[in-house]
Amino acid sequence: MTAARRAAVRRDVPSAGRTAAKGRTAEGGRAEKASANGRARGTAARKRMTTDRRVTTGKGAATRMREAQARRTAVAVAGSGFYGAVEETAKALYIRALKDVPPDVRAALDKAYAEERHQVARQILGIVMRTVEIADERRTLVCQDTGTPIYWVSLGTRLHVDGARLADALRRGTERATREHPLRSSVCHPITRENPQTNTGFRIPVIHWEFLPDADHVELLCIPKGSGSENMTFLKMLTPADGVAGIKRFILECVVEAGANPCPPCIVGVGIGGSADACMVLAKKAAVRPIGTRNPDPHLAAMEEELLPAINALGIGPQGIGGDSTALAVHIEHAYTHITQNPVAVNMQCWRGLRAHARVYADGRAEIGV
Ligand code: SF4
Repeated sequence: MTAARRAAVRRDVPSAGRTAAKGRTAEGGRAEKASANGRARGTAARKRMTTDRRVTTGKGAATRMREAQARRTAVAVAGSGFYGAVEETAKALYIRALKDVPPDVRAALDKAYAEERHQVARQILGIVMRTVEIADERRTLVCQDTGTPIYWVSLGTRLHVDGARLADALRRGTERATREHPLRSSVCHPITRENPQTNTGFRIPVIHWEFLPDADHVELLCIPKGSGSENMTFLKMLTPADGVAGIKRFILECVVEAGANPCPPCIVGVGIGGSADACMVLAKKAAVRPIGTRNPDPHLAAMEEELLPAINALGIGPQGIGGDSTALAVHIEHAYTHITQNPVAVNMQCWRGLRAHARVYADGRAEIGV
C-alpha cells in the first residue's frame, strides 16, 4: 500500500467506527442504563480506534514497507539433509501462507480499492487492507482459518527422490507448524468429526505431483485452503453442444451462487476439460496462480479477460455487501477432453490469496519466497 493509499484508507475506515460509536451513544441517551452501556461501548470503540491508529501510524511507512519486503525476500532454511529441509520448509511455508499476503494479491486489493465507486464497499476494502497491515505489524494470522493444508510438489527430473519420504516430510512439517507455532487444527474425520489437533490425517495434507524437466530441485507450493472459499466449489459436466456460451454462463452462475460466502473479492479459478477429477484439480491450480499471469492459450486468455468485468458487473461486491469489486482476477486452466464432454469446474480463492512457495535442492539448501 502506498502512503497516499494508506492515508485514504485511514480516512475511510475510522469514519465508519466514529459513526457507529456516535449512533450507539445517541441511542443510549434514551434511558439511563442504556446510556451507561452506551458510554462504556463508546469508550471501548474509542479505545479500539486508538489501538487501530497506533497500528497504522506507529511506524513509518518506509519501515513497514522494508519489513514487508524483507519477509517476502527469499530466506534460507536449515534442515538435516534433503528430507529434513523439506520438513522445515513445509513448516515454514504453512505458517507463512497463513500470515503473509502475496505481493500480487496486495497490489490487486490496492487497485480494487482505488477503482471501487461505492462508499461502503470502499470501507470494506479499507478494512481488509488494514487487516493485512495489522497482520504484518503483529506477525499474526491474516484470518483465523488455518484451512486444509494442500501442497503442490513440482519434482525436478534430475533429482532422485523417494516420493513416500517426501510426502512424509510434508506431513511432519505441517504437524510441527500446528504444534510449535501453535495453529488451530482445522482437520477432522469426515464422519466422527474427531480432530487429531495436527492439521493432518488420513490423506491429508493433500499433495499434487508435477514434474520440472531438467531441474535439480523440488518446488513446493503450500495452499492452506480456507473453508469459506473451498465450500464454494462447483463442477458441471457440460457437452460440446453447450458451447463457449454455456461455459461462461455456468461460471457466472457459480459466482452468483457463491455470493458473500467465499469472502470476495475473490480469485475465480476455473478448470475446463480433462475428466471430472482432473477438471477440479485444474480449477484449484487456476485459483492459486499469481494475479497478472494469463493462460498461454489465446482462446483461454481472451476468456479470462472477458469474464473479469462480467463478474464484477454482477455487483456482489466486497464481502457481498454490493459494489464493483467481486473478483480480483479470473484464471482458467485447461486440458484436452473427451469428444462428447466439456467439464467445467469453479474453485474460489478468497481475498487472502493464501499461498507460499519454496525451492529445495538435493543438498538440503532451501529458499522460501522465491
Ligand atoms: S474464506 Fe478466506 S478470508 Fe474468509 S474466513 Fe475463510 S480463510 Fe478467512
